[in-house]
Amino acid sequence: MQILQTISSKSANHDFQAAAEAVRDVVQKSLAPKVADIDLEGEYPSEILHQLGNAGAFAHAVVPELGGTGLGLKAAIQSIEEISKECMSTGFMAWCQVACTWYLQNTDNQALASELLPDIAAGKQLAGTGLSNPMKHFVEIEKIALTAEPVEGGFRVNGMLPWVSNLGPGHWFGIAAKIADSEDYMMAVVSDEMAGMTLRCNAHFIALEGTGTYSCVFRDVFVPDTRVLAAPCEEYVLRIRPGFILTQVGMGLGLVDSCVELMKRSNKRLGHVNRFLDDQTEDIEADLLMARDRTYALADRLDASEGMIDDQLLREVVQARIVGSELSLRAAQATMLHAGARAYVHGSAPERKLREAYFVAIVTPALKHLKKMLFALPEEALTTAS
Ligand SMILES: Cc1cc2nc3c(=O)[nH]c(=O)nc-3n(C[C@H](O)[C@H](O)[C@H](O)COP(=O)(O)OP(=O)(O)OC[C@H]3O[C@@H](n4cnc5c(N)ncnc54)[C@H](O)[C@@H]3O)c2cc1C
Repeated sequence: MQILQTISSKSANHDFQAAAEAVRDVVQKSLAPKVADIDLEGEYPSEILHQLGNAGAFAHAVVPELGGTGLGLKAAIQSIEEISKECMSTGFMAWCQVACTWYLQNTDNQALASELLPDIAAGKQLAGTGLSNPMKHFVEIEKIALTAEPVEGGFRVNGMLPWVSNLGPGHWFGIAAKIADSEDYMMAVVSDEMAGMTLRCNAHFIALEGTGTYSCVFRDVFVPDTRVLAAPCEEYVLRIRPGFILTQVGMGLGLVDSCVELMKRSNKRLGHVNRFLDDQTEDIEADLLMARDRTYALADRLDASEGMIDDQLLREVVQARIVGSELSLRAAQATMLHAGARAYVHGSAPERKLREAYFVAIVTPALKHLKKMLFALPEEALTTAS
């Protein structure tokens, strides 16, 4: 596939370190002072997201012709990681934005990609993804939530998605729906500005409160063909799924990195007793380095693939995502235990890390979903791996 080959050849004008530094600069200057407001007050950081976009944070999995840097999935993961070190709510929103760029980058609807992708990649236009339900549906975890009835010039969509993040007035987000009276599915990008769509804020979360998360009700929403990513979309979903899953590991890597820093800080005061804990800072740090290397290597392999990957590579992607979840939970728990009573005070950093870590493990694909996928991957993959 020409698009992915362009990404894998990488733009000579950009360099990974410079890309990460540009993001780090926004994180330190603009995001760091706002973390508590985002986490505890539920403040949606739209201005910071625009700044991150301006720094290139969402543009790496997009080809230069469509406004991207062309650096590829590794740089996209590194951006999400850099942001998640400071604030996983914002790291998750960065992932939502990147996921939407990924859908548009991989669509055959070039007119749609040309129209929307440059502004989404640059963070001028904010965007998200409502694919939790279909991702679970495709592996037989739950029923599909949206149906799309073919009508003149497009589809009429009905149903409800319980939670979609990084939303606000005019934001775009990806959806998948079952095409009525057929076995096929379609994918499209939609926005709350389409007639018949309502966003509802009907839940408060233990973390990730400032992520602009709404339930989305579709009542006879007309989605024109010009907004369709793929219909039918089975082959398209297989193409986008590995990148969708792997880029999420950036959230876990960033979270674990920040936990290691917090543990080191605790050890300055409490190292004499913390050394008796099972999970030591060096253990978590060593596992982080290994997870990071594996994830980056997988990102390069996905970029170099022709879009469709074999079961062995998918298996490794799923395993990397599992490691991201399990290591997040372990690191956040170790951070609490290292910090002791100070961590038990409302508003402490370790307390936030603990709440954030559970999100890495429950956001789709959740740990149980990933383990189900791994279980279902064919025996040949197991044989090849051994
Ligand atoms: C803060 C936050 C942000 C999210 N952002 C997005 C997003 O941007 N895009 C997206 O597609 N998904 C989003 N989700 C959903 C998320 O990805 C998972 O699908 C969800 O956490 C449940 O996944 P699970 O596999 O653990 O399923 P389970 O929790 O095991 O089961 C999910 C089932 O519970 C049902 N359910 C939904 N809401 C409730 C409720 N309040 N109480 C009880 N049951 C309920 C669902 O319909 C579904 O059938 C978000 C969730 C949270 C908590």
